[in-house]
Amino acid sequence: MATDDQIILARTHLASARNVTVLTGAGISADSGVPTFRGADGLWRTYRAEDLATPEAFARDPRLVWEWYNWRRELITTKSPNPAHDTLVELEQRWTDRMWLITQNVDGLHRTAGSQRLSEIHGNIWKVRCTGCGVISENREIPLPILPTCRLCHALLRPHIVWFGESLWEEDLRRCDEALRACDLFLVIGTSGVVYPAAGFASVAKEVGALVIEINLESTPQSNLVDLSLRGRAKDLVPLLL
Ligand code: NAD
Ligand code: ZN
Repeated sequence: MATDDQIILARTHLASARNVTVLTGAGISADSGVPTFRGADGLWRTYRAEDLATPEAFARDPRLVWEWYNWRRELITTKSPNPAHDTLVELEQRWTDRMWLITQNVDGLHRTAGSQRLSEIHGNIWKVRCTGCGVISENREIPLPILPTCRLCHALLRPHIVWFGESLWEEDLRRCDEALRACDLFLVIGTSGVVYPAAGFASVAKEVGALVIEINLESTPQSNLVDLSLRGRAKDLVPLLL
C-alpha cells in the first residue's frame, strides 16, 4: 500500500507540473464494477477476451462477438464513474489545455464523468462502425439486434473498437505522441502495461524527461521504470493527488 510520504511526494510533483498527461486502463473502471480482462470475473461463458476481441473472431462468428459485446454493454450501462474518474475531470478543469487524458478503456466512463480532453485509443463500446461504408455512429441500444446492420447500406455493423491485432487510428497516435512529448508529468493509472502501444508510453515519457507516476493495485512490467509507484485502488489514491 502507498505510504503517506509517497502520496505527499506525488501530490507535490503534480502541483508543480506544467503539463500533465494521464494514461488509464481497465483498473480505473474496476472500481466502478467493470471487470478487467485479466481478472477471473473478466471471463464470459468460457471465452477469453483475447479470443473474441479480434478481427478473425468477428469474421468467423460475428454473432458470437456481438453477443459478447451486447453482454458487456448491458453490464457497463449499469455502472457509473467513481472518484478517480471525477478527479481527472477536476485535473482537466484546473490544468485546462496543459492536460491530456489517454484511455485504453472502451466503456465511456471518462466521458460520462465529464472529461473532454481525451483520446479513447481503443475506441468506444457505444459506437458502431459499418463494415461496408465505414460510417461511425453512436449507438446506445440495449439489447442490440443481433446481427445489427447499417441503415445506409445494410452491411454488417461492427463495434467501433480497436481489436487485438489492429492498429490504432492515425489521429489518436498523433495526439498521444504530442501529449507524451509535451508532458513533464505522466500519470499511469490501472493498466497492466502489456498491451502495446500504450505499454510503451511510459518509456516515451521518460525519454523526453518527464516524471512518471504509476497507480496500480499490483506491480507491473513498468513498475521498475517509473519514478514513483503507488500501490492501491485508483478510487482511493487518485483523489489524494489533488
Ligand atoms: P488489464 O486488465 O490488462 O489490467 C488492469 C490493471 O489494473 C492491472 O494491472 C491491475 O493490477 C490493475 N487494477 C485492477 N483493479 C485496480 C484498481 N481498483 N485500482 C488500480 N489498479 C487496478 O487492463 P488494460 O491494461 O487496460 O489492458 C487491457 C485491454 O482491455 C485494453 O485494451 C482495454 O481496452 C480493454 N479493456 C477495457 C475495459 C474497459 O473499458 N473498462 C475493461 C477490460 C478490458
Ligand atoms: Zn454502411
